[in-house]
Amino acid sequence: MQKRNLGVGLLSALGVAFGLLSAAQAQTRASLLAPYIQEDAPVVVLDHVKVIDGTGSAPQADMRIVVEHGKIAAVEKAGSGGGVPAGAKVLDLTGKTVIPGLVGMHEHLFYSEPGNSALRGLVGGELVDTAPRLYLAAGVTTARTTGSIEPYTDLNLKREIDREKVPGPNLDVTGPYLEGNPPMVPEMHILTGPEDARKMVNYWVGEGVTSWKAYMHITPEELRAAIVEVHAKGEKITGHLCSVGFTEAAEMGIDDLEHGIAVDTEFTPGRKEGECPANAAEYMAEHVAMDSAPVVAMIHTLVQRHVAVTSTLAVLESLDPGHPPMAFMLREHDSMPPTVWSDVLTARSMIQERAAKSYWPVLLKKEMRFEREFVAAGGLLMAGCDPTAYGAVLPGFGDERNLELLVEAGFTPVEAIRIVTLNGAIYLGRQASIGSIAAGKDADMVVLGGNPAEKIENVEKVETVFKDGVGYAPEKLMESVRGLVGLR
Ligand SMILES: [Zn+2]
Repeated sequence: MQKRNLGVGLLSALGVAFGLLSAAQAQTRASLLAPYIQEDAPVVVLDHVKVIDGTGSAPQADMRIVVEHGKIAAVEKAGSGGGVPAGAKVLDLTGKTVIPGLVGMHEHLFYSEPGNSALRGLVGGELVDTAPRLYLAAGVTTARTTGSIEPYTDLNLKREIDREKVPGPNLDVTGPYLEGNPPMVPEMHILTGPEDARKMVNYWVGEGVTSWKAYMHITPEELRAAIVEVHAKGEKITGHLCSVGFTEAAEMGIDDLEHGIAVDTEFTPGRKEGECPANAAEYMAEHVAMDSAPVVAMIHTLVQRHVAVTSTLAVLESLDPGHPPMAFMLREHDSMPPTVWSDVLTARSMIQERAAKSYWPVLLKKEMRFEREFVAAGGLLMAGCDPTAYGAVLPGFGDERNLELLVEAGFTPVEAIRIVTLNGAIYLGRQASIGSIAAGKDADMVVLGGNPAEKIENVEKVETVFKDGVGYAPEKLMESVRGLVGLR
């Protein structure tokens, strides 16, 4: 069964990738991206727009942003400064708000295939066609893929996006998972020791991978070796860990931790070195206080050692009985074929059936509290979609939902927007060119039909997504993947 799944996944993904490559040979952006583009003038002025710049500062009303050849040339009060350049296309954006393009830090290019459920093992299906369009439609202009099940597909996709043959965010391609035994999904390589970890990092860095992720059953020795090797290549490594606790990983030198305290196992009593305890999340929910000395000490270690945390509240919320809200599910509905929709609803109902025994409502609240404490202590919090688990959270939709949940966690809307924009750029070392709206930066911006500082749900009202100065139409990107998520 495992073998068959692997074979089918590989065949269909190669078919899509080869089709994509050959179709792309002879054509240019004009013909290939045109169906999705709304604004393509070399000089564009966003006039009379409210600006939330991504730094966490208050919204600025009635502004003018001048975009020239893919870069932001000026951000000034409308009617002041250098004025409107000759020949510019002027967009009157009265009543609209613009935020930076999102820097998504957990943006897989795969998804839980139909046939998965809350009770069965996860098989990832590559979404080479749909995921990049959905991310872009939601305003994600830069994406770290945070664990790959088809690294060559992801690398080829990145090349096609960079050559303007395929619509999608600028990609930071993460290597195949650095996983131990047993692997969480059949696509993962099982490391055989520290030397194997070094070999894997070397090989895939040579192929073009630019970031790394360690996974739940990696041994401490393999993780230590991987961190040293990744850093020697000038790259960064994150982890969704279980066999290694947060404090231990921070002391080894890991750069980032996925999901937050909800997956930290170090507080589970009786846990042995290198062991992934089955009851860690339940124990965390029932017994670990977020203001207790061991948690405060762990947060202190992460901050001291400059370890970032990636918030993935949307996917965690999907495990909370009765969530995500049906209003959110219905927004995603059109993107899924009927089999996927029915599988997702079945799994969501099964979780709801067992609501009385669920520790997730408590754990989700603790995770939110942890994220606030981590930021208050000076930690770098970023966010990402993670379109996995049982499939309730789709690429892009989850990034928007994260913003709403960060506000529910207690961050202000402008703080939440900083978490999903500038903070990711800082982690990537790209804050000079992306992550906020400022003169000289890449013109990566999202025009919203309402002000998210007043009502965070306005992040769902994406009207135009500028990536490198080209304005994409979200509804056209969405329409092009209608009924296809989970298939390709
Ligand atoms: Zn992940």
